[in-house]
Amino acid sequence: MHDCLIIGGGVIGLSIAWELTRHGVTAVVLEQGEFGRESSWAGAGMLPPGRVDSARTPESLLRSHSHALWPTWSAELREVTGIDNGFQRRGGLEIRMEGPSDELDDEIRSWLSAGVECQPLSGEAVRELEPELRADLSAAYLLPEMGQVRNPRHIKALLAGCLARGVTLIGGTPVTQLIREGNRVVRVETPSESFCAKEIVVAGGAWSERLLAQTGSAPWIRSYCSTSFPIRGVG
Ligand SMILES: Cc1cc2nc3c(=O)[nH]c(=O)nc-3n(C[C@H](O)[C@H](O)[C@H](O)COP(=O)(O)OP(=O)(O)OC[C@H]3O[C@@H](n4cnc5c(N)ncnc54)[C@H](O)[C@@H]3O)c2cc1C
Repeated sequence: MHDCLIIGGGVIGLSIAWELTRHGVTAVVLEQGEFGRESSWAGAGMLPPGRVDSARTPESLLRSHSHALWPTWSAELREVTGIDNGFQRRGGLEIRMEGPSDELDDEIRSWLSAGVECQPLSGEAVRELEPELRADLSAAYLLPEMGQVRNPRHIKALLAGCLARGVTLIGGTPVTQLIREGNRVVRVETPSESFCAKEIVVAGGAWSERLLAQTGSAPWIRSYCSTSFPIRGVG
């Protein structure tokens, strides 16, 4: 029996497996389709910054820890697998093409109060960074610490890293039922067989809510839309 069974082989499930095995925990990941081909493939790979010591919400604390870990994780993945996930920190722009010129002021204040470097930019300054953009923007700012990663390459590296560390990866296997004993989920059912583990993690992305409904839990997973983008034009 594995120590940990992870439901969902997106970036979250694979990252959990990769990290657990570093601590000597054995893991199996069950994926209903192909590994990493849902949100984790579609994502733009923008990695917004954060400061752990000034994070004031659970989301900003998580983002800040993530920001701190990206360089070392990427280097470690590259060392183990030989795959470069394309991680780099070139900064990112937030822009508005129309609307009032102070439209982004609240966001700028919010980044600064969270201890994150944030520079308001004129249209001309934006065009120096991204010459293909129009200069007549209504508002813009730069987050110099914004990072970016190539999602498909990162997934490829995580898959290779998990395999190198002995994670069992089983694709094409949807978990249909969580079986409880008392207040613990002890087994999961798939159309072909059942799986047990000491610990079970649900990392099913947008499907997690439906799966967890079987346990009476409703985590309220919602999408978030951003209009920022990483700078590609300067090196
Ligand atoms: C268009 C788009 C752009 C985005 N851009 C960014 C960005 O720039 N920066 C950023 O940080 N985030 C971005 N995101 C968000 C980011 O991609 C997601 O937060 C992240 O990929 C979620 O990873 P995940 O592993 O939780 O989910 P997923 O990648 O969806 O993985 C969940 C996996 O679980 C599997 N699964 C579900 N239910 C079961 C089951 N019952 N049995 C077995 N397997 C199951 C699914 O098949 C899936 O492969 C973007 C998302 C989208 C859609």
